[in-house]
Amino acid sequence: MKRRDFILSSLLAVCGTTLLTGCRKKEIIKAQGQVAKRKFHNLEIPLLGFGLMRLPMINSKIDMIELDKMVEYAMSHGANYFDTAYMYVDSESENAAGKILSNYDRKSYFLADKSPVIHMRKKEDIHRIFQEQLKKCRTDYFDFYMVHNINRITFDTYRNLDMFNELMKYKEEGKIKYLGFSFHGTPEMLKEVAPEHPWDFAQLQINYFDWDIINAKEQYDIVQKENIPVIVMEPLRGGGLCQLSDKALSVINGMNPPQTPASLGLRWAASRNNVITVLSGMSNLKQMKENIATFENYSPVSEEEELAAKEIVKIIQEQGEINCTACKYCLEVCPKNINIPAAFSVYNNYKKNNESSFFAMYYSTIDENQRPDKCIKCNLCNTNCPQGLNIPKLLSKVDQTYKDILSKKST
Ligand code: SF4
Ligand code: SF4
Repeated sequence: MKRRDFILSSLLAVCGTTLLTGCRKKEIIKAQGQVAKRKFHNLEIPLLGFGLMRLPMINSKIDMIELDKMVEYAMSHGANYFDTAYMYVDSESENAAGKILSNYDRKSYFLADKSPVIHMRKKEDIHRIFQEQLKKCRTDYFDFYMVHNINRITFDTYRNLDMFNELMKYKEEGKIKYLGFSFHGTPEMLKEVAPEHPWDFAQLQINYFDWDIINAKEQYDIVQKENIPVIVMEPLRGGGLCQLSDKALSVINGMNPPQTPASLGLRWAASRNNVITVLSGMSNLKQMKENIATFENYSPVSEEEELAAKEIVKIIQEQGEINCTACKYCLEVCPKNINIPAAFSVYNNYKKNNESSFFAMYYSTIDENQRPDKCIKCNLCNTNCPQGLNIPKLLSKVDQTYKDILSKKST
């Protein structure tokens, strides 16, 4: 059934009330010492969700002690939405979520997980992985469940395996409460995906940089047209919008009330109409405390803050940074194990502060065998990059920058 037909028949069935109540209202619910919440159907969802993709690490393993403290802090402040995925943190995120969240009453938190289309070859895989995920997460249902990362690589699989209807079976059994999709494809593709099923929500990459510069606004408008509520991912572009240059920082310094790069980015994303929650991939308790404080005192961004965000975008563009969000999807396919996000991060820091000595210093921390000059230009990484970057070309640019800096030093 197409989305429009489903909405129409549902509206007739419920006299035009219940369904749109869940989708459209954007009232904010506030309580002392708790993060702001928003109504979604009969639920109160925290505006800040904990993305379990960039977890605290110690000796290359998830730091469970720190994560435990973070979850406890989040739960005690009403930030009880947790977003994991099959592939996050080398497939360990779900296990970690299951272990820690099983200490809490299942009804006291919302758990979101995703069906990894990239791993699907046949319909049985959808069901095998779903059962595996329930086990790893130590639960018998997911509050929110998504077809994960529909893009130009996964689109045909999503369609051919009829993933929506396969997963609807679990919704009918109560093992999925709300079924949606996360998306990293083109607007043209989204125009096909959004109306083709009665999705409960869509998870999109929305932040003030991508809004006009990439195509976040266009994508947001497409799902708005279909009345699909939005969950925001990458509101800070993988932390990139937290590490602003001095020039960009000067735009928000002295603002009243005071803003940090993170608070501006998170509030900006949460201020879009019809957003259920904004996911932040927090990596330590300090970040979590800062973000929770932002949402305890939440207010939508002002006109002045909207303009400040636009000004920061202009500055970032002038700096010529690479639009990498450090999601690490490219690492899954690189035969040479090139440390792509690290190389781009070093380059971006250089573009922010123009300090060639820092570039050389940080570049030297990347294992020699994983540096850009070891890239064999096979292009496999490009197919996995949700940002559509031409990775080998950009790696050549990083490599050339390094060589230029070295030659200048030696003259
Ligand atoms: S093009 Fe380079 S970075 Fe990309 S997958 Fe191939 S070797 Fe790795
Ligand atoms: S290059 Fe693309 S796939 Fe790799 S970490 Fe950056 S954004 Fe992710």
